Amino acid sequence: MGAARKRILTGDRPTGRLHLGHYVGSLRNRLSLQDEYECFFIIADLHTLTTRPDKSHISAVGENVREMLLDYLAVGIDPDRSVIFLQSGIPETYELNLIFEMLVSVPRLERVPSLKEMATTASLESMPLGLLGYPVLQAADILLPRATLVPVGKDNEAHVEVTREIARRFNRLYGEVFPIPDALIGDVPSLVGTDGKAQMSKSRNNTIDLADDPATVRTKVMGMFTDPARVHADIPGRVEGNPVFIYHEAFNPNLEQVEDLKQRYREGKVGDVEVKQHLLEALNEFLDPIRDRRAKFMRTPSIVEDILIAGTKRMRDEAIETMSLVREAMGMYRLPL
Ligand code: ATP
Ligand code: MG
Repeated sequence: MGAARKRILTGDRPTGRLHLGHYVGSLRNRLSLQDEYECFFIIADLHTLTTRPDKSHISAVGENVREMLLDYLAVGIDPDRSVIFLQSGIPETYELNLIFEMLVSVPRLERVPSLKEMATTASLESMPLGLLGYPVLQAADILLPRATLVPVGKDNEAHVEVTREIARRFNRLYGEVFPIPDALIGDVPSLVGTDGKAQMSKSRNNTIDLADDPATVRTKVMGMFTDPARVHADIPGRVEGNPVFIYHEAFNPNLEQVEDLKQRYREGKVGDVEVKQHLLEALNEFLDPIRDRRAKFMRTPSIVEDILIAGTKRMRDEAIETMSLVREAMGMYRLPL
């Protein structure tokens, strides 16, 4: 028997379409590791409940799952090589989550910075137990397929740290069942949104989506925040921390042009509109092949469901196997039902 390939688990909450932040934070790493690793990509619909438990949001999940899966295919995730599955289709997730809840303390979770931020962004008055447990549920996701690598954005690094602690604790108490997974942070660990204020994120209305058409991208880029101190094009501008230049660096392969624009911007010799015009061209060049592939996949109506059903079945087999290892290691009492 050949050595089994090591595994990746990562994924996204079906709260909307994927955006440029997902691409540089996590998708690019997923694409480059598809052959080297056996990849499990989770569409984390249960995690959506942590901040959006109301029915109006639940009813949007189906459509979001579809859009997100089309985005995966459009960027080049290959369902023949990688497993794409729906979190709620794996009942063992709830089971392992409960066991893991015993292995981490409340104060430890209260120190995870992103959770408070998520509660604020979602305008929650107080912290739900489930949101505090977000990283615990994530640990169940990561460890069910016994993944060793987790490609995520910077905001998720602290969550993977909780997974590592839970895995160590479990192994110490019951025996070596789980690997201790590493986070793999993308080239741009946290891409700022078009508002220039916070990380690009579906909940903040500051995204450029992978599926946006050219007219939408134009509107978003032209409305982008730049250097607020620069009221005229002949005033020297700030390049550092300026989202327009951050996007140029991340998506414009013409390095010479980027350097030239930066220099002229600093000297007050180029207007915002010209810089944005070049960015628009670079973004469209990056997005065009993604748009084309998306349109192609959309022509097969059953594609999303077929892929999800096959992937969820495949993941389910892994989950069942892991749970039997878990119960055996723990020596859990079982009724002979
Ligand atoms: P939500 O607003 O619902 O939280 P989101 O846009 O923040 O959505 P998530 O589903 O939370 O997206 O994140 C999925 C993955 O993409 C995570 O690994 C996260 O770290 C990464 N990611 C999301 N936004 C960015 C970003 N702006 N820069 C880098 N990585 C990101
Ligand atoms: Mg998020």
